[in-house]
Amino acid sequence: MGSAKPLIFSIQHFCLHDGPGIRSLVFFKGCPLRCIWCQNIESWKQEPEIAFKAHLCINCGRCVEKCPEHAFSEVGKRNSRFCRYCFTCTDNCPSGALTRFGVSKSVEDLMEELRPEFSLFKTSGGGVTFTGGEPTLYPEFSSALAKNLHAEGIDVTLETCGLFNLEKIRPLLQELQLMFFDIKVFDEARHRKLCGAGNTDIKNNLKSLVNDWNKKSGPFVWPRLPIVPDMTDGYDNIKGWAGFLNDLGISFLTIVPYHPMGANKRRWLGLPPTHNLRIPTDEEIHSIERLFLNEGIKVYKPGGENIKEHYTGA
Ligand code: SF4
Ligand code: SF4
Repeated sequence: MGSAKPLIFSIQHFCLHDGPGIRSLVFFKGCPLRCIWCQNIESWKQEPEIAFKAHLCINCGRCVEKCPEHAFSEVGKRNSRFCRYCFTCTDNCPSGALTRFGVSKSVEDLMEELRPEFSLFKTSGGGVTFTGGEPTLYPEFSSALAKNLHAEGIDVTLETCGLFNLEKIRPLLQELQLMFFDIKVFDEARHRKLCGAGNTDIKNNLKSLVNDWNKKSGPFVWPRLPIVPDMTDGYDNIKGWAGFLNDLGISFLTIVPYHPMGANKRRWLGLPPTHNLRIPTDEEIHSIERLFLNEGIKVYKPGGENIKEHYTGA
């Protein structure tokens, strides 16, 4: 995996919520977790995927006609067993109803794609954020990209689920200014149930990274917690994480209210819908903010983080 080349499933420009200043986000495909509330479901698999957006289909039949493997029994019905992912269908779909997730790009490709915004990054105090999916699944590629950006004076931030082999990503860490580190469910068994893997390694990685930051031998680490009603918003979960962060000397975090953005993507990829998910109310968010504040932890919204205040204080 270390030398593997990732697929990139999106590059978003002019973003304001994933680090300081104006940023471009590079989305790496592949994730070791399977959080029930995931909004980027197209990031899970490392392999390319084809989505069908029925509402965009004009029923022209080109996909059925052009597929060299005859993988379509009819429009909208593609048998993935016959598909060899040549993308003839997505390339020939005139309406964008068939969409490809995951394109192979080299470090050089990405540098050229991002280069037109370098001056904007510099004047706004922004940069590039690696996200996904999980960019640390590709330690060599992501560190090479970060190194190239850094050499051009571009700040690099990483968004991570925290489940990685710390030793393998040391070269990447050297190129980062900031890490947004996602914490989710405090209880190990419940984390396994809701996110598809335990959280012992995640907690240990967070501890080690904060330790490194305190010794000024690693990037600044900023925790983020998604707020999903009945999954991550319980009193025990908030108290558990607040105690953990306090033990590490961290007095800030970002909370990210659940949003059902991923629901359509599940349908497009032919996955069953998830149930029992809803947007937290304002009152629920305020009560979580109060709980953290009572524990001495300042709460921020995505994009509203005062990184400098805490960075200089570390
Ligand atoms: S990706 Fe290629 S093989 Fe697969 S359905 Fe489309 S055209 Fe057919
Ligand atoms: S090529 Fe695209 S628009 Fe035409 S039938 Fe297929 S999915 Fe629909």
